[in-house]
Amino acid sequence: SAKKSKGNQYSIYQLKMKGLNDKGLMFESKLFQAIKEDRLEIYYQPKIDIRTNEMVGMEALLRWKDPELGFIPPDQFIPFAEDCGLISEIGEWVLKNASLQINRWKQLYNVNLKVAINISPIHFQEANFINRLQSIITETKVDPTNLEIEITEMSMMDYNKQLIEKMKSIKELGITIAVDDFGTGYSSLGYLKEFPVDALKIDRSFIVNMQDGKSGIALVAAIITLAHALNLAVVAEGVESELELEILKEHNCEYVQGYLFSKPLTASDFSKKLEEIAG
Ligand code: C2E
Ligand code: MG
Ligand code: MG
Ligand code: MG
Repeated sequence: SAKKSKGNQYSIYQLKMKGLNDKGLMFESKLFQAIKEDRLEIYYQPKIDIRTNEMVGMEALLRWKDPELGFIPPDQFIPFAEDCGLISEIGEWVLKNASLQINRWKQLYNVNLKVAINISPIHFQEANFINRLQSIITETKVDPTNLEIEITEMSMMDYNKQLIEKMKSIKELGITIAVDDFGTGYSSLGYLKEFPVDALKIDRSFIVNMQDGKSGIALVAAIITLAHALNLAVVAEGVESELELEILKEHNCEYVQGYLFSKPLTASDFSKKLEEIAG
């Protein structure tokens, strides 16, 4: 069973720990402990519908602060977790805790928001991903329509029947799928229309490049046009300025996230925001 193989994974890991003490393993042991002791924390960044100026949801972004090492950014520890076999554990932890949090917010503030969760390609490609997802939904009693899964182009790299089936199963649960960091990975544009995805998230690098002028803007406009041609929603990532926002509005982008509206917030700071909105 899944539990048993996890158990085996840990004991192999513990054996390794006994014999070795290089930096990677120190990191691994600390991350392992942080998961076990619930010392990871999810921050939430609002997603705004720029046509109405309303918050429609948020993205769950993981934070790790080690008592000795200090703050370690996800761009560092996520690839590490992928290498050392801890990423699925982490992904399930985020799915579960973000689900519980969205339930709480729904109850407290009577809001119907969607929380987007980043899923690593390694986790996504596991054979029991759907079963585990289903278990988390049952266990947390989350409404699946309040969940979105963010995958990167990496997860969609080899187009095959099983992959499409897996994505369809997610959709059948009621969960939407967004393609994260769109444009930075391997894009098989020809296949994009075959994937049952709901939204494209334009990587921040494209948003930043809009300030270079015409060609930068043209690229963003082309991605938006492509998305709409395929009936997909568009989310612009990392919007920091009014000018960027204006250009995005002009080109009919629907959703944005970025420091212009809000940085990722702790659950408690996010609650304060929801309190304000609820009045
Ligand atoms: P991502 O999913 O593309 O998330 C967007 C990143 O842009 C986040 O960085 C967010 O804090 C940052 N950001 C948002 N608005 C702005 C802005 O206006 N300006 C700038 N400069 N940055 C902005 P963060 O939180 O450091 O996460 C980095 C990456 O780590 C994420 O990129 C995602 O790939 C990964 N990650 C984070 N949490 C998780 C997780 O729970 N699971 C997995 N598998 N990956 C995660
Ligand atoms: Mg993301
Ligand atoms: Mg992204
Ligand atoms: Mg990213």
